[in-house]
Amino acid sequence: MTGHDYDAIIVGAGPVGGHLGRILSEKGLHVLLLEEHKEIGKPFQCAGLVTPSAMNRVGLHDSVLTDVWGARIHSPLGTRVEIGEPSILRTHVVCRKLFDEGCVRQAIEAGATLWVDSKPTDAEVDDEGVTVSIQREGKDLKLRCKLLCGADGVHSWTRRYFRFGRPKEFMVGFQVELAGFEGPQGRLEMFSGEEVGPGLFAWAIPNGETHRIGVWAHPDRLGGRSCEMLYDALRNHPLWKHRFENTHETARFCGPLASGMLRRIYKNRVLLFGDAAGLCKPTTGGGIGPGFDQVHLLADKLVKAVESNKLSESNLKRICKPMEKMRKELERARILRDLFVSSCNDEELEQTFQIFARSDVIALINEVGDIEKPVPLGIRLLKDVPEFRKMAARATWALLTG
Ligand SMILES: Cc1cc2nc3c(=O)[nH]c(=O)nc-3n(C[C@H](O)[C@H](O)[C@H](O)COP(=O)(O)OP(=O)(O)OC[C@H]3O[C@@H](n4cnc5c(N)ncnc54)[C@H](O)[C@@H]3O)c2cc1C
Repeated sequence: MTGHDYDAIIVGAGPVGGHLGRILSEKGLHVLLLEEHKEIGKPFQCAGLVTPSAMNRVGLHDSVLTDVWGARIHSPLGTRVEIGEPSILRTHVVCRKLFDEGCVRQAIEAGATLWVDSKPTDAEVDDEGVTVSIQREGKDLKLRCKLLCGADGVHSWTRRYFRFGRPKEFMVGFQVELAGFEGPQGRLEMFSGEEVGPGLFAWAIPNGETHRIGVWAHPDRLGGRSCEMLYDALRNHPLWKHRFENTHETARFCGPLASGMLRRIYKNRVLLFGDAAGLCKPTTGGGIGPGFDQVHLLADKLVKAVESNKLSESNLKRICKPMEKMRKELERARILRDLFVSSCNDEELEQTFQIFARSDVIALINEVGDIEKPVPLGIRLLKDVPEFRKMAARATWALLTG
């Protein structure tokens, strides 16, 4: 079989699949997007943070609910660290449904075809292409394409079907949408400590009319608790429970985050994108920005390879070379996160917060801190803050070998 119905079939019409569909179509490829749900952007699990650089790639400013310029971070015992400056926008908070719909609409406008209520059930790769069996609105059919892209999220069918292995970490997230919660203007909040965010943190993110209150944790740090129990601990925490009085819940979301990019995201004629490849940032759980970056890092060479139908594993390996830098940077961020947060008990966290709360350290955080690039700040903290230097030897080796 040599004929192809499409150049590329993308499994998953989330933000990354949508953006990939748009960029490949704009560059002249004939693209089909498959979405297993009947509607785009539903259900979603997301706090809705989209960094300015990711937003600039899609220009979906009409999906923005509010903007965030800073953070108030709470230590386990209630020490507060306030960072950010009102004049510097750090992140947008979006309506994820509108945002996902916008990404997919842009793909369609660029020429891609979207099939909802459609998912692959089987795929066979040969020398000339991929034969994909698809269930569309309950009916079975087969299509041929040159390249199969898995942008099908954290539980990726493509990743499992082609036995790519698993991302390094699966964190669990739980979030409620709360009306009546009062937070500082233009800032998100983070709450730390074993009781509410073991190994990571809990958050409160302004969302226009409401707040998104969430927790995320390592499964192995939960000690038999569910994320819902952590959320209850936050609500009933002596330091913060007064802030939950007179609030009411309007929605609940729960889901995993895949972090730790797979070493190999390509096989013959198959390529993984976004959450399917394990691209969520280990520091914030953000996956939209890295997924968009991946699309732009690979698009030019990938399109040429599709046009010439040279999509062997070794060719895709060459095309994916720029991803190695991203993988290493994400690993460095994880090492620094572990040093400063995940591997610390509450006493150690409290000591770190006492240092973070100093004006010289806050000035450094404000100068170097960047939600998109946490590594430079982590390195500067280790170098410039004498109290953190004792961590540096451990960190240097880990960062060099990471
Ligand atoms: C609680 C929580 C909060 C988060 N907060 C943020 C945040 O603030 N900012 C941020 O950037 N990220 C956040 N994330 C992560 C973010 O949601 C993901 O990184 C992002 O959605 C990844 O986009 P994607 O397109 O790769 O995958 P997805 O958004 O998961 O999209 C995958 C799409 O594929 C479809 N699909 C799946 N399987 C199939 C199949 N077999 N056939 C057809 N279609 C299929 C799905 O229905 C879905 O539409 C959060 C995650 C959680 C759990």
